Amino acid sequence: MEVEVAKRWMALFNDKIQENKDYLSELDTPIGDGDHGGNMARGMTAVMENINSKDFESAADVFKVVSMQLISKVGGASGPLYGSAFMGITKVELANGSVYEALKAGLDMIKKRGKAEINEKTMVDVWTPVLEDIQSGHLSEEKIKSYVEKTKDIKATKGRASYLGERSIGHIDPGSYSSGLLFESLLEAGAL
Ligand code: ADP
Ligand code: MG
Repeated sequence: MEVEVAKRWMALFNDKIQENKDYLSELDTPIGDGDHGGNMARGMTAVMENINSKDFESAADVFKVVSMQLISKVGGASGPLYGSAFMGITKVELANGSVYEALKAGLDMIKKRGKAEINEKTMVDVWTPVLEDIQSGHLSEEKIKSYVEKTKDIKATKGRASYLGERSIGHIDPGSYSSGLLFESLLEAGAL
């Protein structure tokens, strides 16, 4: 990926996170502790401060900063999970892999760190089908939104929402919503 595309992707993601900060926390209120919007907004503010104040040689350098900032600035499960994802993405970018391969390494890191599989009502439920669509060249905004919406029907078995058991059904997973924003930003950045 070109440095400029990587930076554009992160800038678009930051815009969407800041715009949806309250909504993300609202989603995290009935099935969590109401901090997902604040967590992501804080993390992405730190990411943008770092990106805007440095020159980068490669997309991998950009993603390394994203990873470090998200891991260090976000308390809560989502920071280390997104941070690990960007660590996986950085590794593949260093080896000049494709966007699909980079994101696949990101998903593998999320699953390793969170020990979650598909259908547990976590961000894995958006990352997994989105990656299949990227591989087959059929990702669209509508599809992303449908995967996010589908997390409503799932009973949580990982993360805070799992404490609610059956009562987690009927609510969109907040980390899936923010992951949807990440992939909409990827499309808008022209990275695919
Ligand atoms: P916390 O749950 O610590 O308050 P956040 O509210 O920022 O952290 O993030 C919650 C989101 O993190 C969830 O909506 C879910 O998508 C994701 N998540 C939580 N636990 C896991 C896990 N074990 N594996 C993958 N994703 C997870
Ligand atoms: Mg939370």
